[in-house]
Amino acid sequence: MSSRLFRMHGNFCTSHPWEVIVATLTMTACMMTVDYQYQTPPPKPTVRSCGDCIEEAEYHAADMITMTLIRSLAILFGYYQFNRLRKLDNKYILGITGLFTVFSSFIFTSAAINLLGIDVSDLKDAIFFFLLLIDLPKAVMLARLALNASNQEEVKTNISRGMSVVGPSLTLDAIVETLVIGVGTLSGVHRLERLSYFACISVLVNYVIFMTFYPACLSLILEYFQLSRSTNSYARRGSALIAKILKEEDHRFNPVVQRVKVIMTAGLMMVHVHSRWSLRDYENQNGVTRTVIEDHIALNGTEEASAAHGQIMKWIALGADQIVILILLLALVIKFVFFENKQELTEQLLSSEMVERRTEMPKKESRRRIHRSFPLISNNFPSTGQISSEDDDDTDSNMVDKEIQTDCFPEISDVESSSPEDDRMGETCRSLEECLKIYNDSDLGAAALRDEEVIMLVEKKQIPAYQLEKAVEDAERGVGIRRRILGSQAKVTKALINLPYKNYNYEQVMGACCENVIGYLPIPVGYAGPLLLDSKEFYVPMATTEGCLVASTNRGCRALMKCGVTSCIVGDGMTRGPVVRFPSIKKASEAMKWMQTPDNFAVMKKNFDSSSRFARLDKILVKIAGRYLFVRFVARTGDAMGMNMISKGTEISLKGVQEIFPEMEILSLSGNFCTDKKPAAVNWIEGRGKSVVCEAVVPAKIVSTILKTDVHTLVDVNNSKNMIGSAMAGSIGGFNAHAANIVTAVFIATGQDPAQNVSSSNCMTLMEPWGHHGEDLYISCTMPSIEIGTVGGGTVLKAQGACLDMLGVKGANIENPGENASQLARIVCATVLAGELSLMSALAAGHLVKSHLRHNRSRTVLPNEFSQQLIIPPCNDNNV
Ligand code: ADP
Repeated sequence: MSSRLFRMHGNFCTSHPWEVIVATLTMTACMMTVDYQYQTPPPKPTVRSCGDCIEEAEYHAADMITMTLIRSLAILFGYYQFNRLRKLDNKYILGITGLFTVFSSFIFTSAAINLLGIDVSDLKDAIFFFLLLIDLPKAVMLARLALNASNQEEVKTNISRGMSVVGPSLTLDAIVETLVIGVGTLSGVHRLERLSYFACISVLVNYVIFMTFYPACLSLILEYFQLSRSTNSYARRGSALIAKILKEEDHRFNPVVQRVKVIMTAGLMMVHVHSRWSLRDYENQNGVTRTVIEDHIALNGTEEASAAHGQIMKWIALGADQIVILILLLALVIKFVFFENKQELTEQLLSSEMVERRTEMPKKESRRRIHRSFPLISNNFPSTGQISSEDDDDTDSNMVDKEIQTDCFPEISDVESSSPEDDRMGETCRSLEECLKIYNDSDLGAAALRDEEVIMLVEKKQIPAYQLEKAVEDAERGVGIRRRILGSQAKVTKALINLPYKNYNYEQVMGACCENVIGYLPIPVGYAGPLLLDSKEFYVPMATTEGCLVASTNRGCRALMKCGVTSCIVGDGMTRGPVVRFPSIKKASEAMKWMQTPDNFAVMKKNFDSSSRFARLDKILVKIAGRYLFVRFVARTGDAMGMNMISKGTEISLKGVQEIFPEMEILSLSGNFCTDKKPAAVNWIEGRGKSVVCEAVVPAKIVSTILKTDVHTLVDVNNSKNMIGSAMAGSIGGFNAHAANIVTAVFIATGQDPAQNVSSSNCMTLMEPWGHHGEDLYISCTMPSIEIGTVGGGTVLKAQGACLDMLGVKGANIENPGENASQLARIVCATVLAGELSLMSALAAGHLVKSHLRHNRSRTVLPNEFSQQLIIPPCNDNNV
C-alpha cells in the first residue's frame, strides 16, 4: 500500500519535474524571507562571576574537542563517499549526486539560518553535521535506475519503482532519526540542543529534497541530455540490472528492523509529547512562551547586524580545532592527488605487462603471479556489497580498457572486471553445481555470475558460446566474455587488443546483422560533394581506406556542379531464381508453358504478393535446362533491398505451383539464376534491383580547367579503355573505369550488403563530344543492377543510418514506398559518374602515376624535387 503511494508520488515528481522544482525553490525562497521581527528581544547579558568563567573555559575545551572530532569524522566520511562514488560509478552518477549534495546543502543552510537563526560561525558546525547525515547511497541507487532506462518513459517508470522501494524505509528512517536526535533537543544543555537541532534539520531537509527535488531533477537531466540512451553504458545493461538493483534494495529492507523502528517511533513520540508538554506547562507557569530555538534566535538576532564584522573575523580566525581540520583536509588532498593516481598508474602498467605475458604463461600460474606480485591491486577493489555490474564501466581504473578496448585476457579481466560479480577480486569461482543453480534460477540467471563462472559454463557446454549475450542479458558483457574465450582458445589475445568492442549498440546487431560478435571495425568515412543531381545537392558519404578515392570523386562532383547530373530509374525489380526439377523434359516444358500463361502467372502473383505488404511480383523469366527449370521471380520490394522479402514470396508462390505439378521437386530456393553476389550476364542484361541511367554535359571550360584535359582525348581514352579494352577482356558489365570503388564505399557507409557490389557495380560509361563543334563533353553511366535498400539489413545500425540521413533517404518512405531506395540508387549512379569523370580525366591527362605517388604514398619516400612537381589534381589509381 505505502509502496504504491510512493510509486505514485515518484511518478508525479518525474512527470511534473518543473512544477516540483519550482515548488521546492519557492518554498526555499519563502523560508529565506520569513520575517523574524516578531521574536522577543534577547535577554540582557547577566554579570557573571569568576567561577562561571572557569566553568566556561572548561566547557569550551570539551566543546572544541567534540566538535573537532565531529568535523574530522564528517570530512573523512565525505571523502570516503566521494572516493567510493568516483571509483565505483560513472561520471554521470558523480555529477548527479554532486548536484543533489550541493542543492541539499543550500536548502539546509537556508533552513538552518532562517529557522534556527544561527550565526555564520555556527553554520560551519551545521554543515559538518549535514555532511555526516546525507544519504548518498539512496541517491546513487535512484540515479542508477534512471540511467538504466532506454527512453524517457522508462526513466520515469524506473524512478517511480525506485521510490516505491526506498520510500517507505526512508520515511521511517527519517522519522526515527529525527525523533532520536530530537531527544538531544530536550537535554537542557544549550550546546547539545543546538547541535541536535542542526542534525534534525539536516535529516528533514535531506528527506524532503530526496522525495521531491531529486527525482524531478533526475528526470529532467536525463531528458535534456539524453544520458540514459547512447552516451553511457548503463542504458545497455537492461532490465536484469534494474531487477538486481531493486532486489539489493529489497534485501536491505529487513522487516524485523522495520518493526523495531516502528516501536521505537511510538516510544520516542511518547517521550517527546510528554517532555514538550511539561516544558510548555513549565513555561506557561512562568509566563514565558519562548522555546529554546526562539531563545537562540532572539539571542543572536539583534546582535547580528551590528557585529557582522566580528562574525567574519570569528569565522576566519584560526583556532586549534581549525588547524586540525586543515591538516586533515591537506592530508586527504595529498593522498588523492599523489597516491591514488599512482595506484591507477600501477594498474595500467600492470595491464599492459599482462598483455605481454599472457601468451607464455599458463592461466593459473599467471593469476598466482598477479596476486603475489601486486597484492595491492586485489585489495584495491571494493567488495561485491559496494559495487554492481555497471559500476566499472566508466571508472578511472578502466581507462586502459577504454583506450584499447580489451579485457579479453582472463588475467587482465581479473583486474578490469566487467561483470557485477567480478568485483570480488581474489575470490575463486563458485563450484559448477552452484553456478548451474544460479544460471537455472529464473530470477538470477547467468547475469548474476562472474565472467569467470560464465566462461566455465561455456567450457562445460552449459551455455552455447554464440548465445552469451542473451545468457548474461547484456550484449556488451557477452561480447567481452566471448573475446576472453576466443583470446585464450585461439591464442589471439594480442590481436584483439586493437579491435574495439565497447560503446556499441549490439542490440541492433543481435539476431539481425552479425553473430559470434567480438567487436566492431572502425572505417574512415569521407564525403564527396556537393553533388548536383536532378537540381538537388547531395553530400555523399564514402567509407573507404583507399587513399585518393574520395578526393578523386570529389573533383568529379566539382566538375559537375555547373551542369548537374540528370538521372532516370528505368527498372525496379529484385530477383530470386529457384531451381526445380521434373521427372522428364516433357513435364518440365509443360510446367514452363503453364507458368508463362498470363492467367497462371496471375495465380503465382497472387500467392507471391500475399507474403508481404511491399513485395509485388512483376514478372517471371523461365529457362529450361534438360528436366530442370530455372524460374527468375522479379518483384518490387519497396524500400528494402528485398532478398528476404522476395525469398518468402518465391517460396509461397512455388508451393502453389507444386499443387498443380505435384511431381515438381524444389531443389533450391536459390538456383543461381537470381543471380546474387556472383558475376552473371543475366543481371547485366535483365537488370536486378534498381536499373539507373545518369547523364551530364560538361562544358569545355570545366574539362580544361578542373579536369585538366580536353574532350577529344577523354572520349578517345574512354572508347579505347572502357569499350574496346573491356571487350577484349571479355567483360560482362565492366565497361567502366572504377564504378565498384564508388559503389562499395557508398554501400559500406550506408549499411548495404557490401557483397552485392558484384552486380551493383555493373556499369557502362559512355562519352561523346557534345555541342555544335563537339567542344563539350557528354557523359552517361548505365547501371542496370544496383541492389540497394534503405530499410532492413545494416541500414538499421546507427552510424549507417546517419549516413543515410545525410542523404535524406533514411528508412522507409511512407508516402511512396520504394522512393528512398530509388533515390539512393540515383545518388550511387551519379556519384559513379563523378568518379568516372575524374579518373578518366586523370588517365587522359597522363596524371595517374604522379597522382598515385602523391596521394597513396607517403611523401617521405619521394625525392624532394619530385614531390614539388606534383601540382596535379587527385585521382584514383588502383583501377587501371
Ligand atoms: P531485405 O528483404 O532487404 O533483406 P528485410 O527482410 O529486413 O530486408 O525486409 C524489410 C522489412 O521492412 C520488412 O519486414 C518490411 O515489411 C519492412 N518495411 C517497412 N517499410 C518498408 C518499406 N517502405 N519498404 C520495404 N519494406 C518495408
